[in-house]
Amino acid sequence: MRTIGYAAQSPDAPLAPFAFERRELRPNDVAMDILYCGVCHSDLHTARNDWGWTIYPAVPGHEIVGRVTAVGSEVTRYTVGDTVAVGCMVDSCQHCDQCRKGEEQLCREGNTGTYSSRDRLTGDVTHGGYSRHLVVREEFVLRVPEGLDLARAAPLLCAGITTYSPLRTWNVGPGSRVGVIGLGGLGHMAVKLASGLGAHVTVLSRTPDKEADALELGADAFLVSSDADAMAQAASGFDLIIDTVPVRHDLKPYLPLLDVDGTLVLVGQVGPMDEMNTVPLLLGRRRVAGSPIGGIRETQEMLDFCARKGILPDCEMIRMDQINEAYERMERSDVRYRFVIDMASLTEAAA
Ligand SMILES: [Zn+2]
Ligand SMILES: [Zn+2]
Repeated sequence: MRTIGYAAQSPDAPLAPFAFERRELRPNDVAMDILYCGVCHSDLHTARNDWGWTIYPAVPGHEIVGRVTAVGSEVTRYTVGDTVAVGCMVDSCQHCDQCRKGEEQLCREGNTGTYSSRDRLTGDVTHGGYSRHLVVREEFVLRVPEGLDLARAAPLLCAGITTYSPLRTWNVGPGSRVGVIGLGGLGHMAVKLASGLGAHVTVLSRTPDKEADALELGADAFLVSSDADAMAQAASGFDLIIDTVPVRHDLKPYLPLLDVDGTLVLVGQVGPMDEMNTVPLLLGRRRVAGSPIGGIRETQEMLDFCARKGILPDCEMIRMDQINEAYERMERSDVRYRFVIDMASLTEAAA
């Protein structure tokens, strides 16, 4: 199937229209028209090869909402016309212990990324959601529940599940004391989801500027991390801290905030961190952890939870041809809180 998308051809080239082929349907494949695609920091890092594993040309996009246009002969769960979604992975081995547990993101053989990855059967490069069409095996297609605003649902597929999964892993519920560091695409979802699960949520920020925004998003409290007195008073006051800061930073100020057996989980920065002092970890039996997206079953659970609770990201809609400008604004944290591409704009942009 011939299709069109937006691709980066090299680390310093802006994204531009790119024509390519989507594979013929395999018996277990679902084909869809893409309606909306969220813009994730990983898209930008991949386009620019910041992590060193980009395969060019690269068509980013892994927060995808679409409508089914065709299904393979063995597909049982989806039919033409269904509203569906695809997140950060499109395949995994399906037989290792992690895959069998529904934790495909932790597949022992590595999951297949939605973009800039290799198809497990043919070795062809995968291309993501900045495109008109997509073909994905049934097991990696999610159902968009009734009642979820399609235009705003896309960021749930990465920002949503990346913050929902640690909340579930560490059993957050009513009475849990959750801290959120950073109030960007991930952070604002962490606030909404933790709040939706019944937790007492505190946003941590270096300056008081974002207090009103944090409270409006559903946070119960706001802690200025540069205020030594306030930080001292908050010591041992958190069960879980979700750290969404996407750059190298210092964890030392945050560790004393954890209660005994409390965990700080990193979901933002991919790469080196500042040196750490183990004293607060040992003395308080505290933990520092990391967490990547979530499994398919958990992603479906998250979508259903968001539909039930009316939880949606705050989005700014853009046209496909505004993507390069959107990347520049994202780098300046000038977005509240996630860009979503209206894919109806693609045909026009590519012409
Ligand atoms: Zn992402
Ligand atoms: Zn596996």
